[in-house]
Amino acid sequence: MKNTAPLLSPKEYEANFAELHPPLTGISAKAEAERCLYCFDSPCTKSCPTHIDIPGFIKKISSDNLLGSAKTILESNWVALTCAKACPVQVLCEGACVYNGKKEKPIEIGRLQRYVMDNYFESGMPDLFTKAQGKNKSVGIIGSGPAGLACGAELTLLGYDVTIYESNKIPGGLNSWGIAPYKMRQKDSLKEVKMIKGLGVKIKTGIRVGEAISIDKLLEKHDAIFLGIGLSESPELKIPGENLKGVHDALSFIEEVKSEKWDEVKIGKRVAVIGAGNTAIDAATEAKRLGAEQVYIVYRRAASQMSAYEFEFILAKNDGVIFLFNSVPVKIKGKKYVKEIICKKSRLDNQAGLSLIPNSDFVLPVDMVIKAIGQKPHQDFLNSIPKLKIRNGQVVVNFKNYQTGNRKVFAGGDCINGGKEVVNAAFDGKMAARSIDNYLSASA
Ligand SMILES: Cc1cc2nc3c(=O)[nH]c(=O)nc-3n(C[C@H](O)[C@H](O)[C@H](O)COP(=O)(O)OP(=O)(O)OC[C@H]3O[C@@H](n4cnc5c(N)ncnc54)[C@H](O)[C@@H]3O)c2cc1C
Repeated sequence: MKNTAPLLSPKEYEANFAELHPPLTGISAKAEAERCLYCFDSPCTKSCPTHIDIPGFIKKISSDNLLGSAKTILESNWVALTCAKACPVQVLCEGACVYNGKKEKPIEIGRLQRYVMDNYFESGMPDLFTKAQGKNKSVGIIGSGPAGLACGAELTLLGYDVTIYESNKIPGGLNSWGIAPYKMRQKDSLKEVKMIKGLGVKIKTGIRVGEAISIDKLLEKHDAIFLGIGLSESPELKIPGENLKGVHDALSFIEEVKSEKWDEVKIGKRVAVIGAGNTAIDAATEAKRLGAEQVYIVYRRAASQMSAYEFEFILAKNDGVIFLFNSVPVKIKGKKYVKEIICKKSRLDNQAGLSLIPNSDFVLPVDMVIKAIGQKPHQDFLNSIPKLKIRNGQVVVNFKNYQTGNRKVFAGGDCINGGKEVVNAAFDGKMAARSIDNYLSASA
């Protein structure tokens, strides 16, 4: 597509993509840690999907035991820097802080966790864990996103020989390629990858399992397999004009932005983002911050039905993104390049469901369309795995042990939950590793 938005100066790009939540200083971190009430039933820990001992790690900040604090965090969560920066803390740990009930500001758990993890990486990632004796068994992990990384880290400490196969040249999954740069940069994700490699996990990048190596070969080579392949691109809109130049998939666009070569990302002057989940909001906000003059979110349902978090919605609105609710794109028009998108208004009826309102057409003059209506599964690859069961595009596992229909294959993260958060993938990977250990120990 053509670049029609004005280019910004390097300083403007950096300002637009600057961190939303800058780091705490030593003094402010200690002061914040001392505000913690160390609740005996710690609702914050309960609301964290990885169950980090939050009062425990905060207490260690107060006593200047920052490496001990990092150990407490990493025992529960192997991608703790990413989670510190990108977790929706408002609806998780900080949302559960008892201060909310007292109408006071909750403890800044995310920023405190970041403070500890920044210190850990700045200290050169000292060894905090002891590895179990080698078990003479190997596990192959497909995908180096948070699920695969967490699974790999845990298994290597349990004494297994672990190899992660990653199709992308740069590892880290969506932590490296998806999360908005104003939340975290790729270099943060790569620090975690380096830490996990340092534990002994081998990561082979640029290897797409199913193409470069078959799943049968991996099943033969390893004693167990963990699938952490996440999801694929957005589904088709299935409307005329979808193949015109200027129509993009949200993930490819976001991946380009994440490379931080801001002035090389082609961006339209007027952009329509289709969908209203968190990915759509990210794409819209990123388009605006790259210099698009007008960015619309076109969503077929009402504001109250958006799956995006409230704080993401507010961020996009503050950036000037225009939300068009109850609006359905029906046609994208243009000769070679996108020129406009035709939409109809919709209404939701309890009995009839969503319907288009006759004669309600309106035209949005846009030169870029970003499709963000969810993510598809890696269907063909999944179909190639013997005995795997797939329901609604998700790999079916026994949630007690993350085992799939194929006893040798375990799975976790977005490919089993249809797309949640980093913290859920990190938890799945860790728990699946423990089940793989049980499975392999029983068959020893
Ligand atoms: C745009 C976007 C923004 C997001 N922002 C946030 C956020 O701010 N906060 C948050 O908590 N969550 C966020 N999420 C969700 C979060 O990123 C995911 O829930 C999480 O990354 C899922 O982890 P995963 O390991 O299951 O999969 P992924 O991170 O998707 O990793 C899967 C990996 O598997 C690789 N792979 C796939 N197929 C193969 C194959 N056949 N062979 C080898 N490798 C393969 C892929 O290349 C990829 O690296 C966001 C998601 C998106 C799409």
